[in-house]
Amino acid sequence: MPAATKTDLMVLGAGAAGMICAAEAGKRGLSVTVIDHARAPGEKIRISGGGRCNFTNLHCSPENFLSQNPRFAISALKSFTQHDFIARVKARGITYHEKTLGQLFCDNSAREVIDMLTDDMRTSGVRLELSTKVLEIGHRDALFEIRTSNGTWHAERLVVATGGKSIPKMGATGFGYDIAQQFGHTVTETRAGLVPFTWASHMAESWKALSGVSADVRAECNGASFREAMLLTHRGLSGPAMLQVSSYWRDGDRLQIDLAPDADVTTILKQARSERPKASPWSVLADVLPKRLTQKLEEDLGSGAKRLADMGNAAIEDIADRLHGFGLVPGGTEGYRTAEVTLGGVDTKELNQKTMESRLVPGLYFIGEVVDVTGHLGGHNFQWAWSSGVAAGRFA
Ligand SMILES: Cc1cc2nc3c(=O)[nH]c(=O)nc-3n(C[C@H](O)[C@H](O)[C@H](O)COP(=O)(O)OP(=O)(O)OC[C@H]3O[C@@H](n4cnc5c(N)ncnc54)[C@H](O)[C@@H]3O)c2cc1C
Repeated sequence: MPAATKTDLMVLGAGAAGMICAAEAGKRGLSVTVIDHARAPGEKIRISGGGRCNFTNLHCSPENFLSQNPRFAISALKSFTQHDFIARVKARGITYHEKTLGQLFCDNSAREVIDMLTDDMRTSGVRLELSTKVLEIGHRDALFEIRTSNGTWHAERLVVATGGKSIPKMGATGFGYDIAQQFGHTVTETRAGLVPFTWASHMAESWKALSGVSADVRAECNGASFREAMLLTHRGLSGPAMLQVSSYWRDGDRLQIDLAPDADVTTILKQARSERPKASPWSVLADVLPKRLTQKLEEDLGSGAKRLADMGNAAIEDIADRLHGFGLVPGGTEGYRTAEVTLGGVDTKELNQKTMESRLVPGLYFIGEVVDVTGHLGGHNFQWAWSSGVAAGRFA
């Protein structure tokens, strides 16, 4: 039997969190090894942001995160902020731009972020082992034994950075949650987040004809509200507004959608009634909403009145209420297959918020998406990966 290879720090997962953590720890002079079962590091970075990686958000703050303990993320986010990551991107010469709402994207390619991280690891002397499967993890005499398809390793410290379950086709697994449970950690309920909704069966047939229509809306669910674009698709509802509220949605919940958040529909219709009394309310609303959507709403909500002149204030207000408070119960979501993130994860109650170290097993750390901290759409999930990764890299 070949002897085990020794390393000070073993990081499982060469994703966003694992790579930045490894580089940071390597800078401190530790011998660091990163293991990943994928053939290439940072695969999610590569496909993120349509290939341009929305690597952080100018306005990132603890309010942009969901967790059973919303205060947990504060310390790490403060110790390594979006501005710290932007400074690294700038120093590397990666050019970027703000797309909308503080979201920063590479001008050229997400690859530049991956190359920055792999170069940082190389300069810090980090050893990267790809295409390596972890078979078993043991813990004896304050030493972790990591048995892999590529040999056995002994490490004093173990960082779990294996991400969540979203996009299993890319190799995402629930492995990190299994390790957490193996070491006695609680894993909060996990579910798909930032994910498109599917139509309820009674809506599917008539609504899928509107595939491709988009509108700026305000979408609300369980107290969270987002003012962004909604996209109707063949399968259901997508676009940033829908992805954002999906993280707050549970089976059977109703979505409340203001289809015309910038318009005062009552005033518009009353004014049109005095200026164009023969016009139908829906032809007037076609100036406010996409035409195909207006036609569909007319079919579904049409009051029967053909002309504004025949409508009383109550009928006008009824249309306005329905457009500003359009309610629907989706059939479900597309699940992990297309979700950008996994909600829930390793319970933060059992982790040190400054270092990400387990409160149950000294030397064990959890960072990135595997932890019960999930960001809003717009670069916040990568910021959590950077902040939690650096926190562990500085202390582990
Ligand atoms: C399509 C898509 C687009 C996205 N776009 C953005 C965006 O623009 N901005 C943003 O902020 N967030 C985005 N996200 C979310 C973001 O990618 C994740 O939150 C982030 O990558 C999490 O980092 P992580 O290091 O914790 O996990 P990951 O990046 O998922 O890395 C985990 C690593 O662990 C490895 N691994 C998993 N299981 C095992 C195992 N059993 N053995 C060994 N290795 C294993 C994986 O191969 C992977 O390399 C996007 C996600 C998706 C799916």
